[in-house]
Amino acid sequence: MEFTVVGAGMAGAFLALVLGRQGHTVTVYERRPDPRVSAVHTTSMNLGLSERGLKALDRLGLREEITRHVVPMRGRLVHGHDGSVRFSTYGRGGILAIQRHDLGILLIEAATRLPNVRFVFGTRCVAVDKDLPVADFVDDAGHAFTVTPDVIVGADGAFLRGTQAHAAGRAGRLPPGVPGVGLAGTAHPRRRRRPAPHGRRRVSTSGRAARP
Ligand SMILES: Cc1cc2nc3c(=O)[nH]c(=O)nc-3n(C[C@H](O)[C@H](O)[C@H](O)COP(=O)(O)OP(=O)(O)OC[C@H]3O[C@@H](n4cnc5c(N)ncnc54)[C@H](O)[C@@H]3O)c2cc1C
Repeated sequence: MEFTVVGAGMAGAFLALVLGRQGHTVTVYERRPDPRVSAVHTTSMNLGLSERGLKALDRLGLREEITRHVVPMRGRLVHGHDGSVRFSTYGRGGILAIQRHDLGILLIEAATRLPNVRFVFGTRCVAVDKDLPVADFVDDAGHAFTVTPDVIVGADGAFLRGTQAHAAGRAGRLPPGVPGVGLAGTAHPRRRRRPAPHGRRRVSTSGRAARP
C-alpha cells in the first residue's frame, strides 16, 4: 500500500520505519527543514524514554544505537513555593533522557535506509480530505501539489491537521484564524514565554549549553 505520513517527528519517523519494514511505500512530508542538514536546533527539553518506548525501539533493532545517546534520569527535584526541595524518584530502573534532535535523526536515518521510504522536508500539509483520501501540500518555494495515496496518517503532533480535518468536517479545510491552526499564509501569534519560577533555567543533559 502507499502511505502518506504528515510530520517527521518521533511518531511520523517511527511509523515510516515500521510501515517501510512491512514493505509499504511511504512518503513523509515535514514542514521543517531536514534536521540532518539544518543548522536550526530547538531548545526543547530532552525526551524521557520509558521502558515502553525502549521496547518499541528494541523491536526495530535500534536499542543499541539509542543507548549511545541516552543519559539516565533517576528522578526529579520538586521545588516547593516555600523553598523546599524534594527528590521524586522515577522508579527502580529510572528512565532515560535523549535529545529530541538525536532521536529524530536516528529514526529518520534508519527509515531512509529503506528504499521504499522517502522524506520530503520543507513541505507543509495545508488540507486533508480524510474520506477520499487527498492531502494538499505547499513547499517552501510556494509550489502547491496534491497527493492521493491509499492512506494518510496525521503524525503532526500538537497541531494535528488530521484531527483538525476531522473536526472541520468532510472537506477538512479550516477557516484561517482558527486558534491553534497554522494554515499556509495564516499568521499565528507566538505565545509570550513566561519566565521560569524560582529563577530556574533550562538544562541540557548533553553538556551543551542551553539558552535561558
Ligand atoms: C510543550 C510540550 C513539552 C513537552 N515536553 C516533553 C518532555 O520534556 N519530555 C518528553 O519526553 N516529552 C515531552 N513532550 C511530549 C513530546 O514532545 C511528544 O510526546 C512527542 O514530541 C510526540 O511526537 P510526535 O511525533 O507525535 O509529535 P512532534 O514531535 O510534535 O512532531 C510533529 C511533526 O509534525 C510536523 N508538522 C506539524 N504540522 C505539520 C504540517 N501541517 N505539515 C507537515 N508537517 C507538520 C512538525 O514540524 C513536527 O516535526 C512535550 C510536549 C509538549 C507539547
